[in-house]
Amino acid sequence: MELLRNKVINEGIVLEGNVLKVDSFLNHQMDPVLMKEIGREFTNRFAGEQITRVLTIESSGIAPGIMTALELNVPLIFARKQKSLTLTEDIYVETAYSYTKQQSNDITVSKKFMHPGDRVLIIDDFLANGEAAFALARIVQQAGAQVAGIGIVIEKSFQPGAKLLTDEGYRLESLVRIAGLADGQVQFAD
Ligand code: 5GP
Repeated sequence: MELLRNKVINEGIVLEGNVLKVDSFLNHQMDPVLMKEIGREFTNRFAGEQITRVLTIESSGIAPGIMTALELNVPLIFARKQKSLTLTEDIYVETAYSYTKQQSNDITVSKKFMHPGDRVLIIDDFLANGEAAFALARIVQQAGAQVAGIGIVIEKSFQPGAKLLTDEGYRLESLVRIAGLADGQVQFAD
């Protein structure tokens, strides 16, 4: 995706610990034109997968997730990172280690919103070790639903997540793939 790639080149900032900061268009300020394009792109890539739900994790997955759900004309569910008082009874819970916060989070989804027979498209902003994507996939499995695919805005291909997910048999579509962040520079994989 040319628009996204140019944003990464022009606005991405490489931080310590192989973290790419993209808070001018994805993680803090959000670019709605780009989000709309991202929604279209994921919809094109997963056309024919008969998706019935989009699932993401708060907060940065919500914007690409909602634009994809809008294009697919299905609901978006975002997993919550904290158990809310209104989510006490019927919830699916999984644990994911957060790459950027370096702590484990419980993530929760209400049982009301996912059911056996659902075909779920998982969307997230970044893929590093795959912790978030695997935790979301386990929630889909708990619900007796199917993972129809995983859509990632920025894949850091030099970290293990992409290989682990594809080895597990998941269909992974990443809009940009980064081969490395050495010397403060973004190297693209393709
Ligand atoms: P994983 O769960 O695959 O190890 O890491 C993905 C999650 O960590 C994403 O949900 C994202 O929030 C965060 N993350 C991982 N790497 C980066 C990064 O380089 N930049 C930013 N902004 N977030 C990242």
